[in-house]
Amino acid sequence: MSIIYTPQQYKLADKAQENFIDADEIHQILEAAKSPHADDVRRIISKSLNKARLSLQETAVLLNADSPELVQEIKDAAKELKERVYGKRIVLFAPLYVGNLCINNCTYCGFRNENKDQKRTTLTLDDLKLEVKALEDAGHKRLILVYGEHPKYDANFIAETVKTVYGVKHKNGEIRRLNINAAPLDVEGFKTVADAGIGTYQIFQETYHRETYDKVHKSGPKKDYDWRVTGLDRAMTGGIDDLGIGALLGLYDWRFEILGLLRHVNHLESVFNIGPHTISFPRLQDASGIDVDSKWKVSDADFTRLVAILRLAVPYTGLILTAREPAEIRDEVLQYGVSQIDGGTNIELKGYSADEDEQNLDKEQFVISDNRSLNEVMDELVQKGFIPSFCTACYRKDRTGEHFMEFSVPGFIKRFCQPNAMLTLVEYLEDYAPQSTKEKGYKLIEEELANYEDERFKSRLLQRLENIKSGTRDLYF
Ligand code: SAM
Ligand code: SF4
Repeated sequence: MSIIYTPQQYKLADKAQENFIDADEIHQILEAAKSPHADDVRRIISKSLNKARLSLQETAVLLNADSPELVQEIKDAAKELKERVYGKRIVLFAPLYVGNLCINNCTYCGFRNENKDQKRTTLTLDDLKLEVKALEDAGHKRLILVYGEHPKYDANFIAETVKTVYGVKHKNGEIRRLNINAAPLDVEGFKTVADAGIGTYQIFQETYHRETYDKVHKSGPKKDYDWRVTGLDRAMTGGIDDLGIGALLGLYDWRFEILGLLRHVNHLESVFNIGPHTISFPRLQDASGIDVDSKWKVSDADFTRLVAILRLAVPYTGLILTAREPAEIRDEVLQYGVSQIDGGTNIELKGYSADEDEQNLDKEQFVISDNRSLNEVMDELVQKGFIPSFCTACYRKDRTGEHFMEFSVPGFIKRFCQPNAMLTLVEYLEDYAPQSTKEKGYKLIEEELANYEDERFKSRLLQRLENIKSGTRDLYF
């Protein structure tokens, strides 16, 4: 039988680059929390409202609270916590697919090697520049580069593409933060990529359940569960302290996967004193040649609920939602604490720069559900009172990893994140927004400014906003 550790005990138990997932332990924790008493659920909710991290056992209680009344209380609490911790800011980014060559056979992915219907493309550096230019012209400042797994996409190739993207500057556009979603590397490889100046390195474990992992990864290097689950340990050792974890929901029991994700958070904190910056929880989408058992499909009701539970379990970790989800689901879970979304997404190779008739669905990894343009997403966020943010200040001021202050310094969000969100929103309004979005955006900024009581700070902020209006760019606190 497995020992059940408290979060403090994990500190003693975990070691770098050693598999830390114990499926029996996770199953046992879930089993012990079955049919929880409403009082226990409410006690745990109120602990989380005090911005305290939840243990695996406490989270399992929320995962097992099935009555509609308790689910609603969990969602309401997530909403409240989101407002307290994050305010109204939502960070926007876009994915950019660099190449879909792949030597793996993940049964759920259109890029898998066995899928002979898939057209294979790797962007040349010139193609890449055109894609970046198109993204800059839409108003983007933050991108994530996505790659299949292939010897051609080694650390040097990734570093070269990163430097190329940073080098593209069109009109007032530039990419200020570039994240990566790619296969795990060795420590040397991560050092090379770190030196190119990336933001977050994302690796999704897909499923934390080893048997399922083995079944859905039929061949190729990705079949090695342990190499993948320890990938971010190597990233940290190689000097990347800004990490993203994730699980692909729909491969196995979503409750198990949520505890797997939290165990991964505990592990990184125990060994390196730094948790992941973000958690992703993509739901499996239809894709060309896909071959997955539908038994574990996650319903909308379970999905919205699990986002709320994640928010309560890790109040200070960024939650990422992508255009895999339709607009109405995005709108609901934005309220529960999603902190980053993509906008104007196109996941086809050359999808941003090619003419529509040149684009080809055969080049897509899976089907996305939210096809709105960046401006449509921006406009809707603003209308709903969210402040869309392209802020990249922390990363550029070295406020990452252990020094990541967003949540450790009281008032940090109000003093840095909200004003920086406004500054990047004004850049967008001035350079890219149509008149109607511009009007709504400035109205929102005015309302937001009214909440600032510190007159000295407010006048510094106003000065910067004015400077942007008269042509200066890239101002931040
Ligand atoms: N090849 C690298 C890897 O597998 O880690 C990185 C790129 S892969 C294209 C990015 C992510 O897409 C995967 O980690 C997986 O979670 C997700 N994905 C794959 N197939 C999917 C599908 N059918 N629906 C939704 N997400 C999918
Ligand atoms: Fe390749 Fe990644 Fe798709 Fe798997 S998920 S087939 S590794 S691109």
